Amino acid sequence: MSSAHTLALFGGTPAIKEFPPDPALLGEADVAAAAEVIRGGVLSGYIGAPGEAFMGGARVRAFEAQCAAHFGVKHALAVNSWTSGLVCAVGAIGIEPGDEVITTPWTMAATATAILHWAGVPVFADIDRNTFNIDPASVERLITKRTKAVIAVDIFGQSADMKALRAICDRHGLKLLGDCAQAPGAFHHGQAAGTLADIGGYSLNYHKHIHCGEGGVLVTNDDRYAHRLALIRNHAEAVVQSDDPVELANLLGHNFRLGEIEAAIAAVQLPLLAERVAQRQQAAAALNAGLAGLPGLTTPAVLPGNTHVYYIYGLQLDTARLGVSRQQLLAALRAEGVPGLVGSYQNLHLLPLFRHRIAYGTGGFPWTGTAHGDSGVTYGPGLCPVAEDLHSRSFLGLAMGQFAHGPAEVAQLVAAFRKVWGQLDALRGAVAQAA
Ligand SMILES: *Cc1c(COP(=O)(O)O)cnc(C)c1O
Repeated sequence: MSSAHTLALFGGTPAIKEFPPDPALLGEADVAAAAEVIRGGVLSGYIGAPGEAFMGGARVRAFEAQCAAHFGVKHALAVNSWTSGLVCAVGAIGIEPGDEVITTPWTMAATATAILHWAGVPVFADIDRNTFNIDPASVERLITKRTKAVIAVDIFGQSADMKALRAICDRHGLKLLGDCAQAPGAFHHGQAAGTLADIGGYSLNYHKHIHCGEGGVLVTNDDRYAHRLALIRNHAEAVVQSDDPVELANLLGHNFRLGEIEAAIAAVQLPLLAERVAQRQQAAAALNAGLAGLPGLTTPAVLPGNTHVYYIYGLQLDTARLGVSRQQLLAALRAEGVPGLVGSYQNLHLLPLFRHRIAYGTGGFPWTGTAHGDSGVTYGPGLCPVAEDLHSRSFLGLAMGQFAHGPAEVAQLVAAFRKVWGQLDALRGAVAQAA
């Protein structure tokens, strides 16, 4: 028999009938901006040769100026994805093959593959259980004489502990990069996320806070890095005039150029960022209030000095206390119609690429075959216990993009969680029966 109380998983009526898409994703201003570029006939202003056009067309440069002002940084460089941006950033700091770069396993793979791209060796530090961000103490334990840089990731929308990471990097002479793909508009002790790193930046892909389909923005206050980023973005080898190995190093260029249509759309989106962030923060506050007191459920922790922009609203489950697994809770919540559920997050150190140390050909380069000899860096279970524990059983996220999160939608989400939490006995019973 179906009733409002019966879990949808067991044939009851779902708590949520329908969740509207985010109405703010794209609008007429984006259409007009794109149309204007098309009517103008120049879809890219770049030329991969010395001269003014080396730095891109009018829309790209206008968007970069807008970003520099918005984020309070000396240089902003647009790229055709944030993956490209990460490759530029690691290339710009000038690492040697076999040099180690410490990062977090809880990130999109591009953070680590950008290191491999320049034949660097990714080293994975563990994460902080409360914020899911890279744990500075774990970073410091992993520093060797081969370590050259740290890539912090502002996972889910709040800054890693950049103050602590900066102190560690300064102490050991390391560069600090920031993957803030998920955190544009966040602040750390009053400074925009991304601007606390030597080079930072954001993704503009369709799933991020502001977007133009595919794209990214690099930010830095360092003139030399800005120059090198621009070179790597656009066929450096054809442009750089130097006999100095240091100036030539890692300047194999690419075509990482953002098109004019994308730049025009991104320019329309950027001024909307603050409002979008504010809406997500309101939604998160309402979720925090609505979910407060549900046993075995912990709402997101925000590090003192941080603002959180909620790319993902990250919850933790005490499954031992609840007596049901995350998988069962996920199934129950999904059946109630909860959108955007994220059951677990990455653990990059467990990907086959890393476990087998196979990237370039089959010989194990760059873990071996560099001037450093065999790096001794290996990967596998047990390397990042906190990340693995969260991944395997206790993390539960709600992706905040794509769906509207006004008061009515948040109320529905809360109702769905409360319904499932009100029927934990039924879930436990089903488990017992199946066992
Ligand atoms: C989205 C994302 C990227 C990659 O950005 P793209 O623009 O899709 O290439 C890298 N790192 C993190 C943490 C991301 O969320």
